[in-house]
Amino acid sequence: MIFDLVVIGSGSVGSAAAFYATKAGLKVLAIDSGNPPHDQASHHGETRLIRHAYGEGLQYVPMVLRAQQLWYELKQLGGKRIMHKCGLISLAPDDGKFIGNVIESARKYNLPLEILPSSAVMQRWPQINMPNDYIGVFEADSGYLKCETAISHYIRLAKKAGCVQLFNTCVTGVSRDGEIEKVHTVSGEHFGRKVLFSAGTWLTKILPELPVQPVRKVFSWHQSDDDYNECNHFPGFIVTLPNGDNYYGFPANENVLKIGKHNGGQSINSADERKPFGEFADDNTEVVEILGQFFPGVGACLFGKSCTYDLTADDDFIIDTQPGEPNRLIISGLSGHGFKFASVLGEIAATFAQGKSVSFDLTPFALARFKQNKA
Ligand SMILES: Cc1cc2nc3c(=O)[nH]c(=O)nc-3n(C[C@H](O)[C@H](O)[C@H](O)COP(=O)(O)OP(=O)(O)OC[C@H]3O[C@@H](n4cnc5c(N)ncnc54)[C@H](O)[C@@H]3O)c2cc1C
Repeated sequence: MIFDLVVIGSGSVGSAAAFYATKAGLKVLAIDSGNPPHDQASHHGETRLIRHAYGEGLQYVPMVLRAQQLWYELKQLGGKRIMHKCGLISLAPDDGKFIGNVIESARKYNLPLEILPSSAVMQRWPQINMPNDYIGVFEADSGYLKCETAISHYIRLAKKAGCVQLFNTCVTGVSRDGEIEKVHTVSGEHFGRKVLFSAGTWLTKILPELPVQPVRKVFSWHQSDDDYNECNHFPGFIVTLPNGDNYYGFPANENVLKIGKHNGGQSINSADERKPFGEFADDNTEVVEILGQFFPGVGACLFGKSCTYDLTADDDFIIDTQPGEPNRLIISGLSGHGFKFASVLGEIAATFAQGKSVSFDLTPFALARFKQNKA
């Protein structure tokens, strides 16, 4: 059988792509080395922040707004709640680049955003303690997504729509026979007209030339006072320090608050190098200071997990065809901020698989930028 689309990696992006492509009437095969959602890739740990006014750059805003619509639609289709609109506050020195981009993108795209001096933030959320020369920007429409629930929905809906799913099967490579793409797995070959590479961090094992560095990251859950709970209107948060260190966190659920440090971590080259939480000294200490300073009612670490980022040199995504292979789309290098886009990236892949043109400007995400940077 020749599929219209073979999806390599049915995690965050791949499961969405398989659903939207199958729904569009294509014959789709979705392969995964595990049984997603699972904790061996980059999509576990219950929650992912979604922000609309975007600190990483204005080029992301049209995509994140479409992604948000799709997340709400997914709830209607799948049943369980995906989006928690708890609001999100970014705290940073008022001259910071990240917070500057947040403000600029809100202005350009007319997004509701409150810009608050430090005193106003602390008055509204007495749980927060911040320096006087910081500001807070609050987005009431943002919040967080239930990541594993979303992937489960996409996988179930794709199957119902007729997608063929081959899980616990590792893809080892792709070759081409004329116009037909041949996807090699540990248990045989599969054929497709188009291929989506959405294998996350370990796509680097199939495409070693990809300019992506796998990095081990951790996040941890902490005991917190009642007033940090989501039901008490505590928002998601980003904290940027003057040295550029960047932290993110979620409102607590039953007095347990999740937090992580966005930068840092350990570069790794194989999945078995991703040691469990607690195996590196920093794992237990990297958020202690920030909690003490900004969120004094949050305390002891209860447990943590490790996860992986697929980092590009500029922290921007790769959304491009493989050089010389117009029927193979790569969506990778999501650099630790890609989950919120998984729905729209899946839709983009489905559009590609139908041979239609995508309505977003994808030039900032082209592979060619790495060559230009080297020159
Ligand atoms: C600690 C942490 C915190 C994060 N926080 C946020 C956040 O708050 N907001 C946000 O937007 N993003 C966040 N992210 C980033 C986001 O989770 C990732 O960018 C996103 O999940 C990656 O999606 P993906 O589809 O590329 O990869 P994945 O979801 O990891 O899926 C890849 C799939 O490919 C499969 N696979 C791998 N190799 C093969 C192979 N050879 N053959 C077949 N299948 C294969 C894997 O089993 C996996 O299921 C965070 C990431 C981490 C690690």
